[in-house]
Amino acid sequence: MAPEHRSILIAGAGTTGLTAALELARRGFRPRIVDNDAGPVPMVESRALGVNARILALLGPSRVADAILQEAQQIAQFRIVAKTSRLATLDITKVPGRHSAMHMLAQGHTERLLLSKLDDFEVDPEWQTTVETVSGDLTRPVVSLRRPDGTLETATFDIVISADGAHSAIRKAVGIGFPGEALESSFYLADFRYKREIDPHFVEMQLFDPGMIGRLPVDREVLRYISTLPDFEERIEHPAPVAEVTWRSNFRIHFRHVETMSKGNVFLAGDAAHIHSPAGARGMNLGIEDACWLAWLISEGREGDYDRLRMPAVKTVLKQTRQLTTLFTMSNPLAISMRNLAVPVLFRLPAFSRKLLRGVAGYDTPSPPWIDGAL
Ligand SMILES: Cc1cc2nc3c(=O)[nH]c(=O)nc-3n(C[C@H](O)[C@H](O)[C@H](O)COP(=O)(O)OP(=O)(O)OC[C@H]3O[C@@H](n4cnc5c(N)ncnc54)[C@H](O)[C@@H]3O)c2cc1C
Repeated sequence: MAPEHRSILIAGAGTTGLTAALELARRGFRPRIVDNDAGPVPMVESRALGVNARILALLGPSRVADAILQEAQQIAQFRIVAKTSRLATLDITKVPGRHSAMHMLAQGHTERLLLSKLDDFEVDPEWQTTVETVSGDLTRPVVSLRRPDGTLETATFDIVISADGAHSAIRKAVGIGFPGEALESSFYLADFRYKREIDPHFVEMQLFDPGMIGRLPVDREVLRYISTLPDFEERIEHPAPVAEVTWRSNFRIHFRHVETMSKGNVFLAGDAAHIHSPAGARGMNLGIEDACWLAWLISEGREGDYDRLRMPAVKTVLKQTRQLTTLFTMSNPLAISMRNLAVPVLFRLPAFSRKLLRGVAGYDTPSPPWIDGAL
């Protein structure tokens, strides 16, 4: 059977599932994509903001990258400040390739851009449709789907892509472990809309003894502050008068990845396969990468290579986000003093900045062989 005639179910229409659907559709496949929610994430509840250079290269062939670049804010600098004095500045535009290392666009926007391109191929998510179980011989998985009207559909697929997020029902149904650990402390975030435009071109980490507050631009009028400090809102020095708080949330950080990214013809991608701290802005990007690699491998009839090719990338990113998280969340006073002395020195070392920049751009994972000139 020609690869594009195989029946494919994608569970989850987040950024990972939508990318998998789009990358398959543009190669002639007709995947089915279902999601238990009623639609894409609300615009004001954007978890992911950072879109790295690797993802812009991966989304180049589908032209989603062009659409992202029209709406996103390009980040020029990453700054680290201790109390009020600047410890380090990294110019993140100086990265090889067509794009600067990082742009910012709210996840809700990115999802809607992916949906719009997918619509050009007449592939639309079936909303309010839940994958309940996956069973049978996993070389031809049998899936139970709960439809919006409450009825149950049972169908067999050649390939199932589990892009159903961190609590993946499919991962549990097929018995793939998700080992790892959770950090003790909670993280807090708040998005502030200002009464006038703010500078959206830099990301800043403000370090306290202990604790941190990160400042990330959402757009020209909204900043996100993310912190380990419950009272962080009282410590923020706002750049302009606040109009409103558009979103508040708190969460705990887990570092986990699956034991294997596939079992039979069930493939796990995105948060269903790995979760880690938002430090480095890698989560959504890594899921989009998984989806692009998986779609390419399926089109080549090589999906059996997926776990072998993706797992090293997942481990690299988990290690990098753990190191960054440790740097920003340490609580021992001696370690904090040493860090504050070391950071300015390290950032002036070209080898250190180059390595950090490679990670920010997403260039520390394997380059996509199907895109000419990709780094
Ligand atoms: C505060 C915060 C900030 C972040 N910042 C960044 C950042 O700057 N850059 C970055 O790259 N990442 C960031 N991330 C991580 C990023 O948000 C996630 O990695 C990304 O959303 C994962 O996408 P996904 O499609 O794999 O999963 P999800 O977005 O969780 O999507 C899964 C989808 O599956 C659906 N679903 C679940 N169960 C079922 C089922 N049984 N049947 C059918 N559908 C189902 C859900 O409704 C959902 O739509 C951040 C995360 C947090 C918490």
